[in-house]
Amino acid sequence: MQLTITNLSKRYPNGVQALSNVTLSIPQGMFGLLGPNGAGKSSLMRTIATLQEADSGSIMLDDLDVLKEKERVRKILGYLPQDFGVYPKITAEEMLTHIAQLKGIQNAGDRKETVNALLHRVNLYNDRKKNLGTYSGGMKQRFGIAQALMGQPKLIIVDEPTAGLDPAERNRFYNLLSEIGENTIVILSTHIVEDVRTLCSDFAIICKGELMRHDKPDEAVEEMNGKIYTKSIAKTEIHHYKDNYEVISVQMKSGKLSLRVYSETDPGNGFLPINPVLEDVYFHQISGKMDLVTI
Ligand code: ADP
Repeated sequence: MQLTITNLSKRYPNGVQALSNVTLSIPQGMFGLLGPNGAGKSSLMRTIATLQEADSGSIMLDDLDVLKEKERVRKILGYLPQDFGVYPKITAEEMLTHIAQLKGIQNAGDRKETVNALLHRVNLYNDRKKNLGTYSGGMKQRFGIAQALMGQPKLIIVDEPTAGLDPAERNRFYNLLSEIGENTIVILSTHIVEDVRTLCSDFAIICKGELMRHDKPDEAVEEMNGKIYTKSIAKTEIHHYKDNYEVISVQMKSGKLSLRVYSETDPGNGFLPINPVLEDVYFHQISGKMDLVTI
């Protein structure tokens, strides 16, 4: 199965060009979508999820026309939006049973079986009788994924699912997603670049509505070998370095600034080579589009 996006464009009525001619093929497995705030990630995900129209272009899931055959897409889609509300005074079990009914599972016995299986899968079975309003952030996200998994979707879209989760909850959530990603397409947007390296077989970077890159995380990092250098400088020197090097990130460390620069050749001048990480790929890719270093 493959999702093929071709020349997709979207401009909002206020004039913002959220997507510009995006062409991208997404294979089975976990696919990471990276980009700064306002890049167009949610616009792209909402369009794939049939929740908004594009101005032009096409989206095909194998031979299913996503933009035209919305009802058919919705039957095989699981979507976990960035912010989703829960009814606070209803239990997880009641809510999932209701969703099962909406998804067309008519038989009460089948419904119960489906709901129980999902509750076990996201590890909420023991909390199934609790009101959703009492759930922690991690539990709510796991509930969100349970509702997104109802009906065994072939395409799952999760928009920044780990915002607000603690590291242990994040791990649990990602383990769950990885399991699901084995035989479906899972599109995941996140701000945590290294998570994409750990989890995703493919990723894309979008910035200002344009697709900047589509690659495999390990190959993209490999390409950066020997091209990332670091140096510790005084805060007052930053302008000199910004003017003379491609500074891709800056971190404050014990009162000094630790720079990472991209350079095809050894810049000398006290810079030391350092092993690249996916964040270097990300920052290098978007550095031409925006000022990354504002101190
Ligand atoms: P991301 O998810 O990468 O943060 P979005 O897709 O939410 O990006 O937004 C892309 C651009 O479109 C931003 O400039 C945003 O302000 C704008 N935008 C998003 N939704 C709307 C909307 N409904 N109406 C007008 N502008 C919007």
